[in-house]
Amino acid sequence: MPERVAVLGAGVGGLAAASRLAKDGYQVDVYEKLPACGGRNNLICEAGFKFDTGPSFVMMPDFFEEIFSYCGQDIKDYLDLRVLEKSYKIVYADGRQFTVHRDSRLTLGEMEKIEPGSSARFEDFILETGRIYGLVRPLLYKCVTLKDLFNPAYLSLAGRIRAFDSYWKLARKYFKSRELCYAFTFEAMFMGVSPYRAPAFYSVITYADHAQKIFHSMGGMYRIPLALEKLASRFGANFHYGCEVEKIEKENGKFTLSCGNERFKADYLVVNADYPYTQTDLLDRRIPDFEYSCSTYLVYLGLKRKLEGLEHHNLFFSGDLDKNLDQIFKKKTVPEDPSFYVHLPTVTDPSLAPEGKEIVYLLIPVPNLKNPQHRFKDHESRIRKQVFDKINKSCGCDLAKLVEVERRFYPEDFTGRYNIKFGATFGLAHNLLQSAFFRPANKDPKLRNLYYVGASTQPGGGLPVVIAGSRIVAEMIKRGG
Ligand SMILES: Cc1cc2nc3c(=O)[nH]c(=O)nc-3n(C[C@H](O)[C@H](O)[C@H](O)COP(=O)(O)OP(=O)(O)OC[C@H]3O[C@@H](n4cnc5c(N)ncnc54)[C@H](O)[C@@H]3O)c2cc1C
Repeated sequence: MPERVAVLGAGVGGLAAASRLAKDGYQVDVYEKLPACGGRNNLICEAGFKFDTGPSFVMMPDFFEEIFSYCGQDIKDYLDLRVLEKSYKIVYADGRQFTVHRDSRLTLGEMEKIEPGSSARFEDFILETGRIYGLVRPLLYKCVTLKDLFNPAYLSLAGRIRAFDSYWKLARKYFKSRELCYAFTFEAMFMGVSPYRAPAFYSVITYADHAQKIFHSMGGMYRIPLALEKLASRFGANFHYGCEVEKIEKENGKFTLSCGNERFKADYLVVNADYPYTQTDLLDRRIPDFEYSCSTYLVYLGLKRKLEGLEHHNLFFSGDLDKNLDQIFKKKTVPEDPSFYVHLPTVTDPSLAPEGKEIVYLLIPVPNLKNPQHRFKDHESRIRKQVFDKINKSCGCDLAKLVEVERRFYPEDFTGRYNIKFGATFGLAHNLLQSAFFRPANKDPKLRNLYYVGASTQPGGGLPVVIAGSRIVAEMIKRGG
């Protein structure tokens, strides 16, 4: 009889762990509270529009390829990842624009318009972030604990990956204008932290973005969890949807998961549900006073017609970015002049909407729900007006008049739908004291055979990174703990 592994949660991390473990010969059962897989990488279908609800950038495609080759499969049989010719466009408050292209020579020309002379320093910046990437990449497949801090090899590595500098400080060494520093550190917001607080080694994302480029999953981002579900099923994993686990117990070396009147037994348990929630609500433990990532207000619009003047990915920066970051992360007030992200996947992938129509997905970073100073809904109509006005100015249209379908997602929904504490969109914050050795480990320190995979554990959040985390867990289980 193969040993039984229960995976609690069918987010991308859980699906990836299920695939590897099923391939390794374990009997895998996945328990998911929602009716379908994907977690934060989810889908809303309405009136012919297919809205991807969460991730929109595919970065570091080699991490996606790796899981398929681990399982002896060719990713091309599961996913169609296409590189974007225009990675994204940044729109500054004064109307200036900066487009990052697949062809870096075109990007250099754009940079010169923002900061004359900067293109000469860009190569050095990419060399430095590439050097850090080379050192950090192997760590993404390792779980390190506080004990490893005393390992001299890791101590010297901390200096070499600039663990004690901020992401912002690193960019500042190469670029004079705040505009370009923001353009080369905004990726910190992908992890829900301010570039002033994120350690410089997170610049590996900037490196990946510029050196490895940005990809889109044709047919939509939701194809990614579907591909992993198919991969796991191919090796015999079973999926139990609509099954919210309420309690985890361990007796006589076996885990019991309670879900309504049902009880499920397993030899190993891999928890993909968010770590802080798992500790308090499922294991009845106390947790440290963690710092949480920001939250987001999300709006999904199905438009009657195509828009002009926007790219697939667009970032609109606040007129006062420092104040914007301060309000989100320190003051915990709803931003007066928000920065926001506009996703138009139909620019690359018209199959996601009825013919001639467009999808616009708006993401506005806002404070999480830990001691918020404002009620978001009191500010919602103002925020919407500001965001719509800026888009209208850029596209020369009246967005509100083009809306055929609209869905909204609030900070509270992250908690209600996915069990993520404080509506923290990206889980635990990625600051220095919650990264690497200090981030919750993939193995429980007290209960043998209990493992964790997902954004709030090591190595961290983001699709490629949670997929890397699933390899750590699979290898630990195979090694016997
Ligand atoms: C708006 C947004 C934009 C993003 N943009 C990007 C991007 O562009 N690129 C990128 O790489 N990453 C992006 N990310 C981050 C990325 O989506 C996440 O890091 C990743 O999807 C997290 O996956 P996970 O495996 O940690 O789990 P989750 O997605 O959190 O899945 C956990 C699963 O556990 C289930 N669960 C919880 N409690 C229980 C229970 N008691 N019983 C049963 N099931 C339970 C949940 O329903 C959920 O399905 C974005 C995230 C969001 C939300």
